[in-house]
Amino acid sequence: MLRLPPYQYHRPTSLDAAVALMAEHGDDAMYVAGGTDVVPNMKHRLFEPGHLIALKSIDELKGIEEVPSSNVKEGVLRISAAETLTAVASHPRVRDLFPALADAAAHVAGPQLRNSGTIGGNVCLDTRCTYYNQTHFWREALGFCLKKDGDVCHVTRTGKKCVAAHSADTPPVLITLGAEAVLVGPNGRRAMPVADFFVADGIVNTRRSRDEILTEIRIPLASAACRQAYVKLRQRKSIDFPLLTVAVAADVDGSGLVRSIQGVVTGLGSRPRTLTKWNDVAEGRALDGELIDELAKGAHKQCHPLENIIVDPEWRRAMVPVFVKRALEQVTQE
Ligand SMILES: Cc1cc2nc3c(=O)[nH]c(=O)nc-3n(C[C@H](O)[C@H](O)[C@H](O)COP(=O)(O)OP(=O)(O)OC[C@H]3O[C@@H](n4cnc5c(N)ncnc54)[C@H](O)[C@@H]3O)c2cc1C
Ligand code: SF4
Repeated sequence: MLRLPPYQYHRPTSLDAAVALMAEHGDDAMYVAGGTDVVPNMKHRLFEPGHLIALKSIDELKGIEEVPSSNVKEGVLRISAAETLTAVASHPRVRDLFPALADAAAHVAGPQLRNSGTIGGNVCLDTRCTYYNQTHFWREALGFCLKKDGDVCHVTRTGKKCVAAHSADTPPVLITLGAEAVLVGPNGRRAMPVADFFVADGIVNTRRSRDEILTEIRIPLASAACRQAYVKLRQRKSIDFPLLTVAVAADVDGSGLVRSIQGVVTGLGSRPRTLTKWNDVAEGRALDGELIDELAKGAHKQCHPLENIIVDPEWRRAMVPVFVKRALEQVTQE
C-alpha cells in the first residue's frame, strides 16, 4: 500500500490567512483544494510538502453567479475556484450559457472525484507523463527524470526540456469562451486570459506563481451566443484522463455564416493548443462538410503528439482530425 508522507494540514477560512500561511512556510507548503491530484501525487512522492494549506473552507472561493464587470459590457459568469466539478457540471446557468463547459466538467474522472475535485484544481492541474506518474520505486529504477529528481527526459532523451502533457478537461473550453483567471497572492490581485495562463513547460506549465491562489474564473456572458462543443478521447468511458480533447466555439450569423471560430486541443503538449488560422479559413463561410474537412486536415498538420502518454502518439495524431470533425459536427447540429 502506498502511504502518505507526514505533513501538517492547515484549514484557513480567509484568502488573507491562506496567503499568510504560504508566506510563513514557503517552499515547504502547497495549496490543496479537493486533493484528488495532490494526494495521489504525494503518495508517489512527486510532491513532498510539509504543510498543506486547504482552500475549501474559504467562503471567498465559493459561488457561481452572474456579475457585472468593469471591462466586459454584458457582464461575466463568475465561477469560484473551490466549486466542485459536480457543481459546475450541474449548475443551471452553466448548463444554459456554457454547455460545453458543463460537458467538460462532467467528463473529468468519475463521480466521486468530481464531487471532491474543484474547477480551480482542474485549471492548476499538474502535467502528466508515463515516466512521471509512477511510484518512487518505479521512477528510481529508471534513474528518475528531469521533472522530478533526475536530469534527463525519457521522452525527448535530452536534459533540456520536459514535455509532460497538459491533461485537464476544462481549460480548452474556457479558452474558447474567452474566460479570464483571477489570482490573489502576496502582491495583490491580478487577472489574465486563461489562454495566457499556460506556458509550454512540462515542469511548471502555468504563469501562476506558487504562492498565488486562483480565486475565480470569469466567462464573458457574450460568449454564450457562440455555438459550443467539447469532445474527449480516452481509454475508457469513465475515470480516464484525456488522451486528446477538442473544444470549439463558433460565432455564426443568422444566415449560418461563420463570424469567428476557435478550436483548442489538449492532452498532447504541455499546454492547451489553439489551432491556428481557423478564422482565416472559416470567416464568412457556411460551416458545411467541406469547411469541416479543411479545418480537420489543418488540425492534423499542426498537432504532433509525443510519447508522453502511454498510448501510441501516431494513433493519437490520427485521432486529431477525427475528433475535430466530431466537435465541429456537434456545433452544426445546434
Ligand atoms: C483516477 C483519476 C482520474 C482523473 N481523471 C481526470 C480527467 O479525466 N480529467 C481531468 O481533468 N482530471 C482528472 N483527474 C485529476 C483531478 O481529479 C481533477 O483534475 C480535479 O479537478 C483536480 O481538482 P482538485 O480540487 O482535486 O485539485 P487538487 O488535487 O487539490 O490540486 C491540484 C493542483 O492545483 C493546485 N490548486 C488547487 N486549487 C488551487 C487554487 N484555487 N489556486 C491555486 N492552486 C490550486 C494544487 O496546489 C495542486 O497543485 C483524475 C484524477 C484521478 C485520481
Ligand atoms: S516529459 Fe520527460 S522530463 Fe517530463 S515528466 Fe516525462 S520523462 Fe520526465
